[in-house]
Amino acid sequence: MKRALKIVGAALLLVAAVLLVRAVTAESRQRSASAAAPLEGFDLDAALERLAAAIRLRTVADAGGGLFDELYILAADGLPPLARLQRRDFPLGVMFTWKGTDPTLEPLLLLAHADVVPVDRPEAWTHPPFGGRRVEGFLWGRGALDDKASLMAQLEAAAWLIGQGFQPKRTVLFAFGHDEETTGKGAAAIADHLEAEGVRAHLVLDEGGMVTQGVIPGIERPVAIVGVAEKDAFSVRLTAEDVGGHASMPPPHTAAGRVGRAVALLEANPWPLEFTPAAEAFMDWLAPEMPFGQRLALRNRWLLGGAVKALYAGKPRTAAQVRTTTAVTMLSGGPQANVLPQRATAVVNYRVLPGTSRDAVLERTRQIVKDPRVQVEALPSIPPRRDVMTDPDGPGFRAVQAAIAGVFPDAVVVPYLVVGITDARHYTGLSDHVLRFAPGFLGPGDTDRIHGTDERIREADYGRMVQFYAHLIRSVQPE
Ligand SMILES: [Zn+2]
Repeated sequence: MKRALKIVGAALLLVAAVLLVRAVTAESRQRSASAAAPLEGFDLDAALERLAAAIRLRTVADAGGGLFDELYILAADGLPPLARLQRRDFPLGVMFTWKGTDPTLEPLLLLAHADVVPVDRPEAWTHPPFGGRRVEGFLWGRGALDDKASLMAQLEAAAWLIGQGFQPKRTVLFAFGHDEETTGKGAAAIADHLEAEGVRAHLVLDEGGMVTQGVIPGIERPVAIVGVAEKDAFSVRLTAEDVGGHASMPPPHTAAGRVGRAVALLEANPWPLEFTPAAEAFMDWLAPEMPFGQRLALRNRWLLGGAVKALYAGKPRTAAQVRTTTAVTMLSGGPQANVLPQRATAVVNYRVLPGTSRDAVLERTRQIVKDPRVQVEALPSIPPRRDVMTDPDGPGFRAVQAAIAGVFPDAVVVPYLVVGITDARHYTGLSDHVLRFAPGFLGPGDTDRIHGTDERIREADYGRMVQFYAHLIRSVQPE
């Protein structure tokens, strides 16, 4: 007995030692980089006026091509050096080409989208959502963060560089979709065109992560989160049909009842928790920068992984990182209270972890619903080209990491999984280095402004966005 206790005691000590050693030896993956050059002669005030004018264009999805065209006209009018770029129009997007001197080099591909989501309650806004007002050091309006700031900052950066006499060796492509928030057909068409031309991109950079502060608990420094993979999104429709009739003589289950039961079962059976490679990378990179307690847990997932997962699962925002999510978003049944429905439907919106196929999601849905009278079908949407993660130790990530460090020297840079979807998913066939990061800044509470009320950008932050893109364009050029 004594001997057994001794063995158990020794084993526990050993485990404790391993936990400690792993926590203490966590090596930072941050790299120092040269500071970005200041934007000499750059007129931030004039640039902000152009962004404000862009925000005033109400480019919601059904705005029509003319309004999008106005956006490019105002950019071209305000930034004469952009005449150097070639413009090519697509039905739902525009691509600008800034030709490099060496056509053998793979181009840098910068993405953004010109459309914005509609505004639900304009009266709730402090300043009108399409007013483009500049108040208290902020520029207010829909698109100020998502994603007109990226689009305009990229063009500002190009114009400024041209004005400085800079000529890239490596071609720079700017591809702007006009329906990112709805169907993504614009980006898909541009990607098709580039694929048909045989283009391979050196690096693809789209929106996704930003520089955050006070958003990730336990770390005070700013954290720049760079998307290395993203979830897929698609919807499934459940349909039950019946003969109908008078509600005074109902069968035990109506069509609406069947669909309701199916929906309840789906909510009662969430997807299992899972660390995808992107989530693992996030924790690996973040751990060394965290206080001891969190570092101990994140570095010892071999033992404490279950506890870490449970922590993630506790809140919808973090749970989305570790599971395929199920959101019942639409329901419909009979036309009137006393009529048995002939048809009832529900729509379930799934956000699918990398590594899980749409077929697997459909299959699992059918298994859970287990009712031959409820039809399960996928609603059409464009799937991602490839289900791949960009290697955070690869040259693409390094380039973006260095550009971030050059402009935001205090920020910790970490790879992560984007839980929304971006246009980048259409471009994954063009490069092994597809990243999702826009150099905007998100403080506590700011995440709710995106697609929500009071979207705004701090004026000084916009200058840093332009500086970031200029720095990146220069730094991906060969010596
Ligand atoms: Zn966006």
